[in-house]
Amino acid sequence: MVSEATCIFQGVVTFLLIEYLWELYLSIRQHKVYQQANKVPEELNEIINEETYNKARVYGLDKSSFSIIKDLFGTITTVVIILVNGFVHFWNIAGIIISTLGYDADNEILRSAAFMLTLNIFNTITTLPFSIYHTFVLEERHGFNKQTVGFFIKDKIKTFIVGQVIMLPVISAVIYIVKIGGDYFFIYLWIFAMAVTFILLTVYPNCIAPLFDKYTPLPEGELRTSIEELAASIDFPLYKLYVVEGSKRSTHSNAYFYGFFKNKRIVLFDTLLKDYVPDNATTSDIKDVATYEKKGCNNPEVLAVLAHELGHWKLNHVLKNIVIMQMNLLLIFLVFGLLFQYEAMYRAFGFQHEKPILIGLVVVLQFIFSPYNAILNFLMTILSRRFEFQADAFAKQLGRSKYLREALIKLNKDNLGFPVYDWMYSMWHHSHPPLLERLKALDKTD
Ligand SMILES: [Zn+2]
Repeated sequence: MVSEATCIFQGVVTFLLIEYLWELYLSIRQHKVYQQANKVPEELNEIINEETYNKARVYGLDKSSFSIIKDLFGTITTVVIILVNGFVHFWNIAGIIISTLGYDADNEILRSAAFMLTLNIFNTITTLPFSIYHTFVLEERHGFNKQTVGFFIKDKIKTFIVGQVIMLPVISAVIYIVKIGGDYFFIYLWIFAMAVTFILLTVYPNCIAPLFDKYTPLPEGELRTSIEELAASIDFPLYKLYVVEGSKRSTHSNAYFYGFFKNKRIVLFDTLLKDYVPDNATTSDIKDVATYEKKGCNNPEVLAVLAHELGHWKLNHVLKNIVIMQMNLLLIFLVFGLLFQYEAMYRAFGFQHEKPILIGLVVVLQFIFSPYNAILNFLMTILSRRFEFQADAFAKQLGRSKYLREALIKLNKDNLGFPVYDWMYSMWHHSHPPLLERLKALDKTD
């Protein structure tokens, strides 16, 4: 007779492989599009020229090969970890670390924190070659990388330390809550998760993000005035307006807003702004800007992009996403509450006698829920595309459709987006509708 643990084990591995093969199938479909669509389709003639089209195609092909290999490596790593009872080994290492430091290895909270730290070190090291290749080979080859080796190393170390400083106390608190929470611990866990989300959303922009990038208030001038007018016209409580020097990392461009209630901030990437020259730019920087065509949008286009972003706010898209995520968390914690004493689940991952809470949580989140996560992700992608169309329509209502159209085309060009997609790949992966569909929706007369 097959034991329950074996059933769980087989189920987890089978689903992992099915999911991998499905993603691979979609990637190969899209890979073929990059290989075969080497002529600009007629409908795109006015949007993209031959040269940019081919650059974008080669960039897409490179990214596609990279992600196929990276996914293969990721799946192999996960399967090997499961096959060799990797979690047991990490758990043992965590025990050794704790006792070496002079603590009791049975202290589950400390041991869980040490486990998480060990696992994170392992993940950081195994993914590092991909990260290096992505930045210094792939992005470099296509002219997007702006990071120096020094910046990259410092950035990685900072990211790791900041990540641990946040994650380890949170993990410790989670274990504590499960231990003392009684039958309804999942509710306390949920409230705790909400509080952490709220705190991080508040603290992150002011305290954490500035550790990584430089944020400067957008200087007084035409652009600033127009943005303030736009915000006021739709009652957006604009509190601060920043430019972030994304150009130190890469030349990809973006804009977003954040903040609670009456304290909204808008952040523009300097790479989005064609006419923006940083305050402290030296003459050589400016000369550099003058000698080649600077990427980015002109002011009316930036305003149209912002009108789209503010549409997300006006239509409560952010709030809706947060509510869905919180409901999802409640469900996950509830299921975890039902399963976390279930011995077979731990045996499936090699734990014969112990049932560490953290292991249960990782197994439920990462493996037991993976079919559910795949479906939820797909539904969220569909929802996100809807939201994008709605935000575009909002910008259109504000009379910005002409400039939004131009901005979308320009940003697609600047970021070398390839405008031709396999429909299945697009349906599964694209949180933003393809360029052509957005332009069509903008052009439609109501
Ligand atoms: Zn959007």
